[in-house]
Amino acid sequence: MPQNKIQFQPGMPLSELTERFGTEAQCEAALERARWPSGFVCPECGESAHSMFLAEGRKYWQCTHCRAQTTVRSGTLFHASKLPLTKWFQAIYLVTQNKSNISALSLKRHLGVCYRTAWRIKHKLLEAMAERESRRLLTGVVLADDAYLGGVHAGKPGRGSENKVPFMAAVELNDEGHPQHVRFDPITDLKGSTMANWARTALHEAVHLVTDGWASFSAAGAVVAEHGAIIVSPRQSSDLEVFEWVNTFIANLKTAIRGTYHHFDFEKYAARYLAEAQYRVNRRFELRSLVDRLLRTCARTEPCSESWLRLGVVRTS
Ligand SMILES: [Zn+2]
Repeated sequence: MPQNKIQFQPGMPLSELTERFGTEAQCEAALERARWPSGFVCPECGESAHSMFLAEGRKYWQCTHCRAQTTVRSGTLFHASKLPLTKWFQAIYLVTQNKSNISALSLKRHLGVCYRTAWRIKHKLLEAMAERESRRLLTGVVLADDAYLGGVHAGKPGRGSENKVPFMAAVELNDEGHPQHVRFDPITDLKGSTMANWARTALHEAVHLVTDGWASFSAAGAVVAEHGAIIVSPRQSSDLEVFEWVNTFIANLKTAIRGTYHHFDFEKYAARYLAEAQYRVNRRFELRSLVDRLLRTCARTEPCSESWLRLGVVRTS
């Protein structure tokens, strides 16, 4: 079973975290490599010629061309954070290497920071994952279905209900019928126009889309190359073998979210929690390298303020 291969793969040992990222200097050097793998590039003008100086213990890069001064953190997700990078690296380790999702409350205890700081760290890391995943387009054969956070899959005609957050779950299959990548996208409703917009955001135009026979899915099918609707009555795609992978991923996602985030406002932060699940599924065979990968993503993610984080909206540009 693929699940076993995933569960038993080696992750990054805790000893490696402390050996590689145990000091502030090691973390700064790692962030520098992640941000500028081929050497410094001025974030203002894109030139590489620069000088360096130290001020108040901080390393500054000064662009020779436009004179802009930059630290390794400025303009990244770590911008304006007073937290040592060692704590950030520990958070990246805990968020990526844990078998299940880790709550802000657990992060608070592991990192020895206050809850509000832990919440900010957690949501900033989720925002980085969400932005990284927002550009993913599924290709080939894609199975898709609607699902709900905060309740069981609703059947026709009472699809959705109050206090449940609807989302689309889509799974890309390879030629052998094995799942490759997934997308989990919050949606506002199940109208045709919403489905069409979802398909434009989530699917490559050459996709062969497979759904059940719910009428709105035809609007999604209209913007891709092919659409196969499997008609069942009453609508029970959760019982159909062809949708097995979609249902497996939906079930795993619900278990992970329910088991970690007991009291969160599903509706408000659904986009980020779904993106976290999507990020982890799409890198499920690469556990060991996830610390380095998420670090690179954070280095390329623009700063986000707490007030922005609390809006619960994911940046997609
Ligand atoms: Zn410059």
